[in-house]
Amino acid sequence: MQATAPPFVPSSTTRPSDLSTTKEIIMTTSFPSASNANHTVTSSTVHGVYDLKLVRDLEGLLNVETAQTRLRRIAGRAQNPKPFNPICSYTTLSACKQHRQNCEKVHYEPIIRPWTDPSLGYCSYLNLCYGDPMFASNPSLGDGPGPRGGKECRYLHFQVVPTTSSHPIHPPDQPPLPKIIRERLLPNIEVKGVSEAQWIHCDIRSFDYSLLGQFQVIVADPPWDIHMSLPYGTMTDDEMRRLPLPSLQPDWGILALWVTGRAMELGRELISLWGYKRVDELVWVKTNQLQRLIRTGRTGHWLNHTCEHLLLAVKLPPDHPPNFPIPWQTSPALRALRRGVDTDVVVAEVRETSRKPDEVYGVLERLAPHGRKLELFGRKHNIRPGWLTLGNQLGESQIAEPDLHARLRQRYPQQPFHLIHSDVDMK
Ligand SMILES: [Zn+2]
Ligand SMILES: [Zn+2]
Repeated sequence: MQATAPPFVPSSTTRPSDLSTTKEIIMTTSFPSASNANHTVTSSTVHGVYDLKLVRDLEGLLNVETAQTRLRRIAGRAQNPKPFNPICSYTTLSACKQHRQNCEKVHYEPIIRPWTDPSLGYCSYLNLCYGDPMFASNPSLGDGPGPRGGKECRYLHFQVVPTTSSHPIHPPDQPPLPKIIRERLLPNIEVKGVSEAQWIHCDIRSFDYSLLGQFQVIVADPPWDIHMSLPYGTMTDDEMRRLPLPSLQPDWGILALWVTGRAMELGRELISLWGYKRVDELVWVKTNQLQRLIRTGRTGHWLNHTCEHLLLAVKLPPDHPPNFPIPWQTSPALRALRRGVDTDVVVAEVRETSRKPDEVYGVLERLAPHGRKLELFGRKHNIRPGWLTLGNQLGESQIAEPDLHARLRQRYPQQPFHLIHSDVDMK
C-alpha cells in the first residue's frame, strides 16, 4: 500500500470536488476568538494517537477518486458552473493582511456595536442571532425573537466584506467528456412531469392521498415526536405509521426520510413497516456563517450534534423478500437511476430551525431526474420547481397539473386551488 500511495494531501487543501457543496471548508483558524465557540475541522487529534505515516497514507488514498467516480462527477456537473469566491482561511481581512499582500478570497469582518464586548468571542448563533439588528430583521428567521430573547447580544457577529478582487474565481476547467462516454455514464433519461412548483395547503394527517397519483421520489422531514418541546405540532408515532406512503410510489420508488433523536430507530422501523428497504444514508454536516463546524451545545445530550441524517430507502415490490439483494442491474427502474454521482455527505450552512439544505434536492434530482417528486411536511421555503409540496403552512394551494387540479376541486369544493398554466413563468 505504501508503494502505491499518492503524495500526502493535507486536509487544508481539500478540494471542492463534491457536487453538493460549492463552499470551501475552512480548515485552519487564525482569528483569536475562535477558541470561544467554533472550532475548525482538523485531523490533529487523530495524528496524536496513531502512527503519522499510516494516517498520511490513508489520507492520501482517501483523497483520490477512482477514474469512474471522477468521470461521473464531470459528466454530472451543471452545464454552466457558477463562479464562486472561496472563503479565505484567515477568515477576517485584518488577519489575512498580516500574512498576505493580496488576497482574492472572501473575508468576514466583525460587526462592532456600542454594546459589543469582543473579549466574549463569537456569538454561537452568528447570523442567526436576534440580538444584532442586522440579523434580527432577516425575514428568513421567521416569527418572534430567538433563544436570546431579542436582547442586544454582546458577542461578536460577522458580515461578509466585498471581495477586493474584480474577477470571480471560476471552478477549475474540466475538459468536456465525449458524448458517447457521457451517455454511458449517465443514461439519457426523458424527464417527465411539470417543471413548475406546486403545493397543497392541507392537514397531512387527514388529507386524501388517493388524489395525488404516484411519485418517483418522496422526501419527508416529519415533525417527529422526539420528546422535545418544539415550536410546531408533532406527529404521533401512530399517525406516522398510518401515512399511506407505499400507495404513492411505484415499485423501487425512492423515499428520503430525515430522522433525528429516537426517530433514527423509529424511522427505520417505519421504512420496513411501509414495505421499503433502507439502501443508503446521507449526512448533512452543519457549518455556521463562518463555514466552521457547529460544535456548541444546541442539541444532543451526549455529544453535540453537528450533523443530521437522511435515510434513503427504496420501495420493494410485494414479491421481493426484504433480505434479498436489490437488483440494481436488472430492474429497469433501478437501472434508470444516475447512481454514483454524489457523495453521501453534504456540507452546508445552517439556516432557520429545522430548515434543510437546498443541496439535498440537487442530490435527489441528479439521482432520479425522471418522474414526479413529492415533499411532505414542507414549508414555504421548500417550494421548488418540479416538486409538489404538502404542508399546513403553505397558504393558498397552487397546482399546475390540470387533472390533479380537477380531482382536488371535486374532493374539496370549499377550498381554493389556484391552477397555473404550464407555460407561466414562476417567480
Ligand atoms: Zn485572505
Ligand atoms: Zn448573538
